[in-house]
Amino acid sequence: MSKTIAINAGSSSLKWQLYLMPEEEVIAKGLIERIGLNDAISTVKFDGKEEKQVLAIADHTQAVKILLDDLMRLGIIKSYDEITGVGHRVVAGGEHFKDSALVDEDVIQKVEELTLLAPLHNGANAAGIRAFKEILPDITSVVVFDTSFHTSMPEKAYRYPLPSKYYRENQVRKYGAHGTSHEYVAQEAAKIMGKPLEDLKLVTAHIGNGVSITAIDSGKSVDTSMGFTPLAGVMMGTRTGDIDPAIIPYLLEHSDDFQTAEDISRILNRESGLLGVSEVSNDMRDVMAAMEQGDAKSQLAYDMFIDRIVKYIGQYLAVLSGADGIIFTAGIGENDPKVRQDIIRHFEWAGAKLDASKNEVRPVKGLISTEDASLKVLVIPTDEELVIARDVERLKK
Ligand code: AMP
Repeated sequence: MSKTIAINAGSSSLKWQLYLMPEEEVIAKGLIERIGLNDAISTVKFDGKEEKQVLAIADHTQAVKILLDDLMRLGIIKSYDEITGVGHRVVAGGEHFKDSALVDEDVIQKVEELTLLAPLHNGANAAGIRAFKEILPDITSVVVFDTSFHTSMPEKAYRYPLPSKYYRENQVRKYGAHGTSHEYVAQEAAKIMGKPLEDLKLVTAHIGNGVSITAIDSGKSVDTSMGFTPLAGVMMGTRTGDIDPAIIPYLLEHSDDFQTAEDISRILNRESGLLGVSEVSNDMRDVMAAMEQGDAKSQLAYDMFIDRIVKYIGQYLAVLSGADGIIFTAGIGENDPKVRQDIIRHFEWAGAKLDASKNEVRPVKGLISTEDASLKVLVIPTDEELVIARDVERLKK
């Protein structure tokens, strides 16, 4: 019996979840926000209670110290020795990391080098890893990559039709993201469907603020909608998803908003998607509320969002030459029956049919298609932290 902590470090935040393993029981979880500021906030949830404190936190190392002190102060652990493993989520693993890995100096350096591929994320992830190494140097430390699951994609799927030189010299290719989520929901779906994952073809739809769709054959990712970065694929909360790349040089010439690479990245990543089109919010609940009030821009944003997801699912049904199941997960996919219904009504030709009463149950987990549907539809709440904790167990020395 041991305690393992799953860590998701952002540039100014650190999200954590403490597990009793191998029982997979969540003992406590929390979030440290506003790292680097004098009014950072540390929230700890345990035993049905929530503890919050506001304090100055200079960096990730101090955030880790505060997290461990909180665990002691609140009686969640009696000594640091109870924590025997830590797993860190890392966004970009490039071509190097085909699986999770035990942390050593070489691994940390590679994660830092890969910051080139995920500028907003990998640096913060590496800071979290270093902070734990400094404070708890002897525990099992594992890195779990968002991209590893997608390293099984065939080259025809991951290459872009650019001159090959940019793949050779600049590593420009599709890496995908949300890998732990797609892998986890596919495994859980196979259990519910009562078949080995190796015998199934699945399309997984992770629909949250970030959105990605994956085609999975025999448990392996064969294609995914996110690309070189998590900007590609379907429209998202604030991201464009796929657009004609010629729009960028055009706007560089014809719009004052587009001057630098930073402008382009900001507008495409943070000001577009549901937010950019609705001019209301990036949050689906707000967009739907405005739509119900008759707001035409929110209606358009919603319709575009559904349209892009339908097209990707359709593509992947074709890539797989038909599938056994479509799986919904993440904030919108898990919680929004209307989104699921508006997507699935496009796939009745392929054998998918929703059981309206099952689709409306909240919270829902499991099959939501009718008994006779040949293409099953499922909702599986994603659990990326659990995948991380399981990988720590798996790789323990
Ligand atoms: P995530 O990135 O997975 O946390 O998902 C965030 C998205 O999920 C936001 O667009 C939320 O509006 C949406 N969401 C969360 N809860 C609900 C809900 N109960 N109904 C509809 N959408 C929801």
